[in-house]
Amino acid sequence: MKRSRVLAVLVGGVFIVAVMSLNRMLELMQGAGLKQRGETPAGQVHDDLSHLQQKIDRLEHLLSDNNRLVATLRDSLLQRKAPWETGARANVSSDSAHGQTDRLPGCRLADEPKDGANGVQLLDVYDLLPFDNPDGGAWKQGFEIRYQGNEWDEQPLELFLVPHSHNDPGWLKTFDSYYQDQTKHILNNMLIKLSEDSRRKMIWAEISFFSKWWNDIDDQKREIVKRLLRAGQLELVTGGWVMADEANSHYFALLDQLIEGHQWIQRHLGVKPSSGWAVDPFGHSPSMTYLLKGAGLRDMVIQRVHYAVKKHFAKQQTLEFLWRQSWDSSSRSDITCHMMPFYSYDVPHTCGPNPAICCQFDFHRLPGGRVSCPWRIPPQPITEQNVQERALLLLDQYRQKSRLFHSPVLLVSLGDDFRFVESSEWDAQFSNYQKLFDYFDQHPELHVKARFGTLSDYFKALRRRLTAAGTTLPTLRGDFFTYSDRDDHYWSGYFTSRPFYKRLDRTLEATLRATEILFSLTTAEMRRYRGDGHLVADFPAHQHFQRLTTGRRSLALFQHHDGVTGTARDPVVVDYGTRLFHSILNLRQVLQSSAHWLLLLDKSQYHYDQSKPFLKMDDVISAQDALPQKTLLTLSDEPRSLIIFNPTEQLRTSVISIVVDSPDARVVDAQTGQPMTAQISAVWEEPTLASAEDFQLDFVAQLPPLSLVVYHVTKASVGSANRARYTFHRRGNPPTIQTEHFQVSRPEGPDTDAPLSLSNKHVQIWSSSETGLLQKLRLQSGLVRQVQVQFLWYGTTRNRDKSGAYLFLPGEEGAQLYSSSEPPLVRVSRGPVFSDITSCFRHFTHRVRLYHLEGHAGKSLEISNMVDIRSEVNRELAMRIVSNVASGNRFYSDLNSFQMQQRRTLAKLPLQAHFYPMTSASFLQDETSRVSLLSAQSQAVASLRPGELEVILDRRLQQDDNLGLGQGITDNKLTASLYQLLLEDRRGGAQEVGGASVQHLSLLAHLTSLSLCHPPITMVATSDSQLPKLRPFLPLQSSLPCDVHLLNLRTLEDTQEAGSPSQEVALLLHRKGFDCSSAPEPPLQCSWSAHEEVNLDDIFSPLQFSSVRQSGLTLLREDDEPESARPQRAPHVARLRPMEISAFRVEIG
Ligand SMILES: [Zn+2]
Repeated sequence: MKRSRVLAVLVGGVFIVAVMSLNRMLELMQGAGLKQRGETPAGQVHDDLSHLQQKIDRLEHLLSDNNRLVATLRDSLLQRKAPWETGARANVSSDSAHGQTDRLPGCRLADEPKDGANGVQLLDVYDLLPFDNPDGGAWKQGFEIRYQGNEWDEQPLELFLVPHSHNDPGWLKTFDSYYQDQTKHILNNMLIKLSEDSRRKMIWAEISFFSKWWNDIDDQKREIVKRLLRAGQLELVTGGWVMADEANSHYFALLDQLIEGHQWIQRHLGVKPSSGWAVDPFGHSPSMTYLLKGAGLRDMVIQRVHYAVKKHFAKQQTLEFLWRQSWDSSSRSDITCHMMPFYSYDVPHTCGPNPAICCQFDFHRLPGGRVSCPWRIPPQPITEQNVQERALLLLDQYRQKSRLFHSPVLLVSLGDDFRFVESSEWDAQFSNYQKLFDYFDQHPELHVKARFGTLSDYFKALRRRLTAAGTTLPTLRGDFFTYSDRDDHYWSGYFTSRPFYKRLDRTLEATLRATEILFSLTTAEMRRYRGDGHLVADFPAHQHFQRLTTGRRSLALFQHHDGVTGTARDPVVVDYGTRLFHSILNLRQVLQSSAHWLLLLDKSQYHYDQSKPFLKMDDVISAQDALPQKTLLTLSDEPRSLIIFNPTEQLRTSVISIVVDSPDARVVDAQTGQPMTAQISAVWEEPTLASAEDFQLDFVAQLPPLSLVVYHVTKASVGSANRARYTFHRRGNPPTIQTEHFQVSRPEGPDTDAPLSLSNKHVQIWSSSETGLLQKLRLQSGLVRQVQVQFLWYGTTRNRDKSGAYLFLPGEEGAQLYSSSEPPLVRVSRGPVFSDITSCFRHFTHRVRLYHLEGHAGKSLEISNMVDIRSEVNRELAMRIVSNVASGNRFYSDLNSFQMQQRRTLAKLPLQAHFYPMTSASFLQDETSRVSLLSAQSQAVASLRPGELEVILDRRLQQDDNLGLGQGITDNKLTASLYQLLLEDRRGGAQEVGGASVQHLSLLAHLTSLSLCHPPITMVATSDSQLPKLRPFLPLQSSLPCDVHLLNLRTLEDTQEAGSPSQEVALLLHRKGFDCSSAPEPPLQCSWSAHEEVNLDDIFSPLQFSSVRQSGLTLLREDDEPESARPQRAPHVARLRPMEISAFRVEIG
């Protein structure tokens, strides 16, 4: 009592001092402003400032409770904006006065954890392991486990047998077929069989299936479900829409499928998942654990981890650990993780080390059934005669397994793919195991307590034991790629398999995010317009919300570990593709009608007619397996209105590309009448044949954040438009060019062999005149790097096991350089908006383009490939970049686009082990330079030699790889891939001193990646001459800070009216960590701050939030910050930590 009063007085005193100091600082900062105008002695101010800064830092530490107030004061003082209206160049918002001259502000925050190398780092484990794969005996990939028998005398073995049924939402059958044939029977029987005996338990993971079943069952059954949940007999684990792939999935989609599942659970069942269950994804990513932790889960189970890593962890008794984010210097991101020790999650590999024995305890395999034990010793029904022998045999396995763990609590799963379908199977498993458990109970001298359990039961017991023993689990950082289940079988093929659909996945993702944001802004704007909280009557809000929901669920379903992975049967792939395709079309309708309403000057003119939309997209996707095609825009003297939506939170300069029917066209800003820089290029029907009717019109657009901007396109007078100029190169066989509208020249004389070169203000490139492929890059700063592009073929090994949908088994010879009997046609185009070099090879068309733009869009090279390997047999096509960056054996690839992970190329591992998933980025670096390859789609990446980086573009494999799929992958299509290549100077680059340093993309790379993954969306207004008046929609006054990404603005479902949008929106912000060693020159247009506190009202101005409640990442209501914990009204100050995603439940307006 007394002590706390003293404390209160102290804290109060400190607070007063803090406020006074802040006032003093305010004065001083104003002085610092004067200083620049030369009115105050500079040195004194500087000293005072650094002194005060130290003081403030100390006070802030003490005053964590008052952080927000402090932040508000500071923000109002320091935050200077970069309003796009004035085009004013921006600004580092704050710390230039704080003495950080060479370091970017904000780096301090992102930088901190670099030395936080406590705990186990998986990369170090890789350095340590011999990867020698010796025969371990009964446990083939492990070792012989010994025990005395008295280990459990003090603390008995406490065993939880967790029944589960692994239901793939699509693999050999489609989602719907699995549901009809298996899943609904499993769930129906679950109700009956769990109700028969309260000791029985079950866990369920896939909410896609569960929600479908829920729609089919009556209220009585629903009540039983709720009762089983309350009783703890049924547990929903993870609670995602699917058990997501963790390699190819983007974190947007990973989180979105988790939100969709959790929101469904909250609405219908009111429970909250606390344990994660991921037994089948082919390798595991810490990005997923970050999301699980953020969603409120405490524990998780993983299974598919490299067998050598499992063995190592088993030996060290570290199969259970606290999984921590590499960049986290605190314990905030820790989640308790249990790694299954053996080969699989089926019964033979979960009771203990010997599958031949464990299989005898899978009572679904009793003689006479459809499945049996491959080890040829069948299970026996448990009888009074054999119970002792059987129980002791099983106990021996349990005890051996227990020796691999720190505590005497043991988790054993009981299940397999699509198990527990028939009621006889339930009876066989539950009654036989109950007899064994009863036997253990009757024999206390065995010191074992065994029962059916859920994951929560297990983890609760584990926590209790750990607390009692006063021990904690070790900490681990890193990821579990690339997975191998045996020998040299590395599962790196699926990082690329079905690349067409991996790209379609990202197209839907970008469309969904754009639509979510625009829809949320539209409904908020409508409520504000009407003033009574209702939406405009003619706006089909309910229908649109259904379309959004279907879009969310299609994307979510595809994140399944046989969806985006490309490891499903052909008809299932078509089913997924059709869902993705239809969702894109449906979401486009929502986008179009939202944009329509927002753009109308006179809102009373709004009318929704699905058959006659006011706006259309500028392209058409004709089928699930077709690439988008631009539609031809007919021009006249009457202006055609183009509407561009910028789905990013940054002001950007973008090149908009449309196809028109005239080589003479003009584009003006509809608002100002100002003409835009434009370029007319040929549409090439064949490499040397230009269309005489269609022309590509590209123009430079200035797009404010989240804006809808209107442009007018008209036919122009002949010859008034800038047309691209072309040169063609082909060694030995000069091509005949057919074009009437463009100037074409051929290289002559000494020019023929000279390298091709393109340049803009920022960068110059050189390419081979023979192949057109890139050779060298030079930055304006003077930095020169050799950056050669090559193409290669991988084949497959001559051994019995060959590459397939999952596995990459290229054989020892590795890749062969791509060569063609015909020299490629090389087409160079030059114009005022962009210049490019296109190389037309037989199997692919490769294009490198340089945009003539100011700002960051002109700093990288756009690389695009169009690949067709349908004529090939057992081949994979790769694109390799060979540079003279001294990267050693290290490179970095991203994990789910959420974070970067260091990779090491090790001689002891086979080639295929060195391929890693790349969702959106990888880079190589040395002390003075960094080369980043940013991608718009997921695929495999490797750096097999220093300075090299390669990605697999497509793979065509004729055979099954014996992992259950039962087919090869030969459904290849014409497949597009898109990249940005970025060379950057590094100054004071972080030295890598042992360990694994945490690295981030640079700010420039983040912004480039954002632009690449979220291109502007172009719509065309109907050609009706009686167009209503349109005005641009500009929701934000300025760009968000450079490092703050608006991940989503996702309208939540109305709690009263099912299927309708509520006023509540999930605001998801991701504050990116960024690299400090490259300062962009000239500075970026956005601002950033070194402070964690951000005033949401300021950065989203003029949008108004009427309420803001911080929440868990999946917006479960009970996670919300309590109403009383914050001021009722603005300012809404939030703490955004670098690398972290923050979720808020907000109402706009
Ligand atoms: Zn599966």
